[in-house]
Amino acid sequence: MDLVLQRLNHMVKYVFVTGGVLSSVGKGIVTSSIGKMLLARGLKVTVIKIDPYVNVDAGTMNPYMHGEVYVTDDGGETDLDLGWYERFLDLNLQIENNITTGLVYKAVIEKERRGDFLGRCVQIVPHVTNEIKSRIRSVAKRSNVDVTLTEVGGTVGDIEGLPFLEAIRQMRLEEGFENTLYVHVALVPILDVTKEMKTKPLQHSVNELRRIGIQPDTIVARCPEMIDSESLRKIALFGTIPENAVFCSYNVESIYQVPLILDEQGMGNFICKRLGFSDRKPDFKEWRNFVDNVLNPEHEVKIALVGKYAGLADSYVSMTEALRHAGAACKAKVCINYIEAEKFEQNPKGIEILRDFDGIFVPYGFGPRGTEGKIMAIKFARENAIPFLGICYGFQLAVIEFARHVCGLKEANSTEINPSSPYPVIDLMPEQRGIEIKGATMRLGAHKIIIKPNTMAHKLYKSEEIYERHRHRFEVNLDYLEALEKNGLMFSGKSADSRRMEILEMPDHFFFFASQFHGEFKSRPGRPDPEYYGFVKAGLDRKLGKPKPEF
Ligand code: GLN
Repeated sequence: MDLVLQRLNHMVKYVFVTGGVLSSVGKGIVTSSIGKMLLARGLKVTVIKIDPYVNVDAGTMNPYMHGEVYVTDDGGETDLDLGWYERFLDLNLQIENNITTGLVYKAVIEKERRGDFLGRCVQIVPHVTNEIKSRIRSVAKRSNVDVTLTEVGGTVGDIEGLPFLEAIRQMRLEEGFENTLYVHVALVPILDVTKEMKTKPLQHSVNELRRIGIQPDTIVARCPEMIDSESLRKIALFGTIPENAVFCSYNVESIYQVPLILDEQGMGNFICKRLGFSDRKPDFKEWRNFVDNVLNPEHEVKIALVGKYAGLADSYVSMTEALRHAGAACKAKVCINYIEAEKFEQNPKGIEILRDFDGIFVPYGFGPRGTEGKIMAIKFARENAIPFLGICYGFQLAVIEFARHVCGLKEANSTEINPSSPYPVIDLMPEQRGIEIKGATMRLGAHKIIIKPNTMAHKLYKSEEIYERHRHRFEVNLDYLEALEKNGLMFSGKSADSRRMEILEMPDHFFFFASQFHGEFKSRPGRPDPEYYGFVKAGLDRKLGKPKPEF
């Protein structure tokens, strides 16, 4: 009943998540888990990520330093936390769900230039904070949800974060106590020598939050182990909250267990009660099934990820999660080895290590570094009938490898790598020529793809029309299409006007598949993306000695 009434009154509740002590403590996972606990109780939620950096969006940032750039259906280049929200909550978020300092200031300054504030001095409070609040509210309104979660990136105390914290502080006054909830997530380290849990850094970060005027309603301690009762008591006492408002996100085998362990501690019920929703039993049935498959695999599939940002796992997080979703669907544990492509360039014999893998995966990438090593890995997969999956750059490099070694176009290349290649089989898209501005100018977001019947792609997608997300500037040069196809490369997915090649496969190979788009962004726990599923299943079937993959 309360739900119905709320929808009628369009009353949205707001949950704000802040972080303390360190960044990267898993705030994104806790935020996603809170969403999951609400969703499991039949509530409709959306999530906003605030990134206090001055970039307008994440698109221009190096994945090696900041992790992957996540792409939304509508072409937003966003923080990777949006990926966690989408995976945990099965949402399709939009550009507006990621708010940055750059975006907010850009909007305020544009308004000032237009004369919207004519005569007034434009200030952080109220003009910047108003812009932040209106963006949060407009997402809440457009999404028509019961609860809007907002995660403030960074750590409490960062200079960049202050206007955002001020904005969410004001929202309690404007929306009311019963409609707002502050969650603070902070690290509780365990000392190596004495094995003692230390709550002091957390206490300091709560104090810092209070200095700004925010008293948290609940605290999540991020600790390697479940916090002991003494630490829990201290956190409650110094945080000025009841003991039943303290929760712990401890280390678990799979990240997907986090909503379950927080719910077992009573966090879902606590939040619902505090926000005025009636008591309701959560339904985690499907989620638990998925988690069980992750935790109890019957097989193991070894994947070599041959990339350029292999040193930072977060650079490929959506890809590794998509591989895990696929693994769970085949009851297989997917073991991913990150291999720097450049190593093969320095030591060509080293390529032989790829023989030990059940699948070779070449992910997205930009620029020339490591491309020759990736091409060597693709050649190895093709010649040794090892299942291969290429995504975006991986797709383009597979075309180059085929052109060079099968079609005899020796110096075939992408003009991104060698602008004066005699055979530019991968070239800039016509509409990309002359573009000099780097931000948000690639071909981005979901586009329609037509799939050829009776192909591997058709078998996997079970449809002749799909929509997949993109992020690229280069593509297959149509001048070479005939040569490539004549020699046995099949383009089984194309854009609606047939001018863009989207999927390639090799009918005679055990499993050789690549796409210009990024299937990983639509992969969900319990509903793996078809190309990732096909790849992992093929790896498993080959390992089990089957003559061809069984989908
Ligand atoms: N660098 C290539 C392009 O811009 C591939 C991009 C990618 O892998 N996302 O087209």
